[in-house]
Amino acid sequence: MPKPYRHLFFDLDRTLWDMDLNSRETLSDLFGRHGLQEKGIASSEIFIEYYLRYNDLLWNRYQRGLINKASLRALRFRQTFSHFGVKDVKLAEKFGDDYMNEAPAKTRLIPGTREVLTALSESFVLHIITNGFEEVQHVKMENCGLKSFFTEVITSERADCTKPDRRIFEYALKASGAAAHESIMIGDDHDIDISGARNAGWDQAWFRNGVEAVGEATYIIDDLSELIPILRAGKHA
Ligand SMILES: [Mg+2]
Repeated sequence: MPKPYRHLFFDLDRTLWDMDLNSRETLSDLFGRHGLQEKGIASSEIFIEYYLRYNDLLWNRYQRGLINKASLRALRFRQTFSHFGVKDVKLAEKFGDDYMNEAPAKTRLIPGTREVLTALSESFVLHIITNGFEEVQHVKMENCGLKSFFTEVITSERADCTKPDRRIFEYALKASGAAAHESIMIGDDHDIDISGARNAGWDQAWFRNGVEAVGEATYIIDDLSELIPILRAGKHA
């Protein structure tokens, strides 16, 4: 039986903001602009593949508190460049700065984002809970015209802890004046969004985006538009 929700908490990256497309577009632009092919890296595809690997490893270390934000940002490009034998720290730094400036300005959204948020905002209070940096996540939302949909934007930087830590969910309730029983978390990452919300006593809608994966959630959806009937049923239950 769906619950009468009042507060909808969305993850941002890969749930609404198409992080993979936006990141690839930026990396590919920068690959050309910084002449990396001339420096011996065969293609932007292979460069991106290795960047994503190093970035994931470093994010993992960052989330476990082993490295800080500055190291994460500096090392992901330095390690990728170094993998291809390009030992130019200055260039890696410039590339990293350009990436940080340009990626959040990209505006590709997961299909249906704007339509679904528009429909849901008529009946619910919408918020964001995102593992990310304050300035970056706000820029992304502003550039895509998403900012006005959301009442509270809880970044892990603002809450000083990251999903799935239940403290970020508790922080979100306090900030928004919501209660757990009337809240639902909508996100793509089972380990982070769904387990975290479940552990905090919230319902969860797991957005799999067509990726075959196994895991439990209150609701499982493959397209954002599926949220509308599910949440409306809850609203009028
Ligand atoms: Mg996500």
